[in-house]
Amino acid sequence: MGADQSVLGPPAPPGSLSDLDVQRLRQDFPILKEKIHGKPLVYLDNAATSQKPRAVIDAISRFYSSENSNVHRGVHLLSQRATEEYENARIKIQRYINAADSKEIIFVRGATEAINLVSNSYGRKHVQEGDEIVVSAMEHHSNIVPWQILCQEKGARLRVIPMNDRGELLLEEYEKLLNPKTRLVAVVHVSNALGTINPVRKIIEMAHQNNVPVLLDGAQAAAHLRLDVQELDCDFYAISGHKVYGPTGIGILYGKADLLESMPPYQGGGDMIRSVTFEKTLYNVLPYKFEAGTPNIAGGVGLGAAVGYIEQIGMENISVREQELLSYATEQVSTIPGLRPIGTAREKAGVLAFVLDGIHAHDIGTILDQDGIAIRTGHHCTQPVMDHFGVPATARASFSFYNTREEVDALVQGLRKVREVFS
Ligand code: PLP
Repeated sequence: MGADQSVLGPPAPPGSLSDLDVQRLRQDFPILKEKIHGKPLVYLDNAATSQKPRAVIDAISRFYSSENSNVHRGVHLLSQRATEEYENARIKIQRYINAADSKEIIFVRGATEAINLVSNSYGRKHVQEGDEIVVSAMEHHSNIVPWQILCQEKGARLRVIPMNDRGELLLEEYEKLLNPKTRLVAVVHVSNALGTINPVRKIIEMAHQNNVPVLLDGAQAAAHLRLDVQELDCDFYAISGHKVYGPTGIGILYGKADLLESMPPYQGGGDMIRSVTFEKTLYNVLPYKFEAGTPNIAGGVGLGAAVGYIEQIGMENISVREQELLSYATEQVSTIPGLRPIGTAREKAGVLAFVLDGIHAHDIGTILDQDGIAIRTGHHCTQPVMDHFGVPATARASFSFYNTREEVDALVQGLRKVREVFS
């Protein structure tokens, strides 16, 4: 059953997602009934990718079963239907993040492509030799490497906002980094490795006082926090669909219209042009200027269904539920001897990363897997974070609203078993 017909009915008031509601919502996710090594799946790898509700699976299946056609170019009815579905999805996403206009929503492959789009287009146009780009010490590689490539090409410099041992950014150090050479600040909203929710409003305010635009990497935040890009006043915001209950291979770049208007295209091809001759090409209007080639139409439709599903549950309810789970899990794992949490910021979303004395993270993950418990182990594409904490890897449990206290208990029991195996 999709959320449209969910027992929840109209969106519930904030904070009222009961255990019973969660049990019912779990029915929306077919994969949660899977058995792994004969045990019920305990899926605690939501920061890597979230599971998909029936509403999303059905929307994709319906699209391919009765609407599939190419968009924007057809006069026939099926193409018009496909175009309408795809463009409706854009509007749903616009509402989800409260963008001022749907032309500010660019469909891309995911957060990685969104960031690469900005570095290739905005960056190439505005960054010159001696300029500086500011990132933070807790970035995912996808918000480091594109800027490094740009800096190498242009002779520019990457500056890094340091963090403390809780995994919180040092804003007084950030202030010192902002100067007339700064061209862009690119910072993660919620860290995938630490769970830290960064004070992005303050970060943006400080950058804007220096006339510097800000890109937020919202790959994690979009699934856990209510978003309002106008209230945040961010200039760019990157989202991956697969982390917000949507399909893989689709995401969005939000950009303020005036910035996007001023930027050159990222890729050339069909759909992004108004007219082409061998002498000259005129580019299409927003958002199409940045959407070269046949897009991931079914992906867009699926992502539209995903944000509709989240809205039906209510993001406030999701946030409260996940905070409860995180507090419970943090408390419970603290009883495991030799466990050191990595990432203890005061403001955190549903990520619990840790190391266990003398036991490699991969061994923890492998033993838990035998009991059907899926967590992630490794550097989480944040090697500088691992370097900061002096560890090669961490084990990371990450939560969604559909997780339960019983699943947290299973994790804790699994970790006790890991200890026994290695004792
Ligand atoms: N940024 C953060 C904080 C992430 O957690 C991830 C993925 O884990 C990404 C960026 C990259 O997302 P994707 O691989 O979906 O493009």
